[in-house]
Amino acid sequence: MALQSANLRKALGKIIDPDSGKDIVTAGMVKDIKTAGDAISIEIELAAADSPMQTRFSEQIEQAIRATSSECKEIVSTIEVTFTADTRSANERVKDETNPLPNVKKIIAVGAGKGGVGKSTVATTLAIGLARQGHKVGLLDGDIYGPSMPTMLGLYREESKSEEGFLLPFKVHGIEAMTIGKLVEPDRALIWRGPRAHSAFSQLATQTKWGELDYLIVDLPPGTGDVPLSLAQLLPLTGAVIVCTPQVVAQDDARRAVRMFQQLGVPVLGLVENMSYFVADDSKEYDIFGRGGGEQMAAAMNLEYLGGIPIHPDMRIAADSGEPLRNWAINETMSNAFDAVCNNLVATAQNATPDRPTLTVS
Ligand code: ADP
Repeated sequence: MALQSANLRKALGKIIDPDSGKDIVTAGMVKDIKTAGDAISIEIELAAADSPMQTRFSEQIEQAIRATSSECKEIVSTIEVTFTADTRSANERVKDETNPLPNVKKIIAVGAGKGGVGKSTVATTLAIGLARQGHKVGLLDGDIYGPSMPTMLGLYREESKSEEGFLLPFKVHGIEAMTIGKLVEPDRALIWRGPRAHSAFSQLATQTKWGELDYLIVDLPPGTGDVPLSLAQLLPLTGAVIVCTPQVVAQDDARRAVRMFQQLGVPVLGLVENMSYFVADDSKEYDIFGRGGGEQMAAAMNLEYLGGIPIHPDMRIAADSGEPLRNWAINETMSNAFDAVCNNLVATAQNATPDRPTLTVS
């Protein structure tokens, strides 16, 4: 047949991989092309075994080959597209290939078993707290289904900018920040699923032009969806921090989040108990939700306990008004609590081994 491998490669070279922005041939994803009579089989390598891109690539490949075959007046009976996965974690790949974020020393994901426990508040507090200690910090709002950073960081005043195809992070409150919430209408982000969500997250994760950073804190969507999997595949993670509230009923969800990161081969750096207790103006501490539940759970799971963050109405006000630095002015007990969690994280992240086991989820 006239449809030689070169023709087929040319046809496949028109298909763009939304993750890398390159065509699938240049991106090295076309692993094999075989022709047997008028049947063609193509092998494509994806970053994850269950990538939501499979259906889309299959359709595009079939279309591209049929278009080329009719141009060359060649008959093609069957086109078989098979997918393989590069199941090495991003840490493994970085050893011999390009690190997508070479400027960033440590990447720390912040996750939670369910929404509303204060995951974004803790992610912001960690980012700002580390920056107050003199570290260079970036905050990536990876909660693509419900980004809260535009509000929490007061980004409505900022304009989105890009340079040479890269998104430029916002420079606010002493940190760099990026969120999907500034790139699309907030109510549209909520309905994204599958390939669009995956590719939006990949672009945010790999195509933001961060400065030199000591820490990149990534706020993940709540629960155990596929964004953490994408993250573990895309970026070399130092580890994950799990946020929970003290109640016993909240602990099952937190446990699930811990197990998910462990399955992904991402070290769990520790647990933060949010809304741990209330500090009144007279400095008296009130136990509201059962202070200590998170610490007990951490001990039971053999995890580091990074500390508790009190509940205080001024934290909610600071978040709603986009002024996270105000949290450090609430009272001394609270600012000490924020700083203690940051210090513990720095110590644990320092000890975390950079090399991780290969991804075990297929
Ligand atoms: P999640 O990211 O887990 O969904 P958020 O960080 O968005 O949760 O927090 C949910 C709400 O609770 C927000 O209004 C936030 O300001 C508030 N909140 C979170 N932690 C605290 C706290 N320690 N004290 C007071 N309000 C808090």
